[in-house]
Amino acid sequence: MRKKIIAGNWKMNKTAAEAAALIAGIKKEIEGVTTVEVVVCPPFTDLKDAAAACAGSSVMLGAQNVHWEASGAFTGEISAAMLKDLCVTHVIIGHSERRQYFGETDATVNKRTKAALAAGLTPIVCVGETLEERDGGQMESVVVRQTKLGLADLGADLAKIVVAYEPVWAIGTGRTASPEQAQQVHALIRRTLAEIGGVAVADTIRIQYGGSMKPDNAKELMSQPDIDGGLIGGAALKADSFAAIIKAGV
Ligand code: PEP
Repeated sequence: MRKKIIAGNWKMNKTAAEAAALIAGIKKEIEGVTTVEVVVCPPFTDLKDAAAACAGSSVMLGAQNVHWEASGAFTGEISAAMLKDLCVTHVIIGHSERRQYFGETDATVNKRTKAALAAGLTPIVCVGETLEERDGGQMESVVVRQTKLGLADLGADLAKIVVAYEPVWAIGTGRTASPEQAQQVHALIRRTLAEIGGVAVADTIRIQYGGSMKPDNAKELMSQPDIDGGLIGGAALKADSFAAIIKAGV
């Protein structure tokens, strides 16, 4: 039985003080919830205060990116050790906004994933097709390619990752994949993971759905057999809506 994992991707939102207040609100709302893993992923500048706000609770801390080198001349980048130093346990890698606006490729996703794993961070590796790709009949090939290349050569560490299926056409659009549409792709991702690392390992890997997941559609999506939680954007920015999604996963 895979434990559901709900992560909030705050993107470029919230100051440090706002982050601490939001985490305090989430903690209050989800008191007593133990059957779902909860991760918040604020901007880098919030991580120190966010770590203090998470301390002593089950809410875990994630970052939104990590560089593959340990240190050096990489202006604007953050290393895995820097994240570990701030009590970060998870990191989102290969989000479609990174792929679309910041030149992220399957090769750099793979390098970041390896660096995160080497440092003991749990990568949340995002895959998903654009509307153009779906309409052009390429959904399957895109998702399989991103999964295989992004997760290439991880060896036994493959078992430690989380995958997020995020159809790009559903992110921030209010247009959610239907539970059946999402399940079809999640099953495809799990088959692909089985090709890479074997069925036994694939069966243990959590695959989150992301793309306009809200309190009113979360339960139906997460009741699909291969949907093991959510990566939440907009609805993660308020304690009540994020908590309602978490409770839908209980
Ligand atoms: C995301 O960006 O990861 C996301 C799922 O956003 P939203 O929930 O706002 O669609």
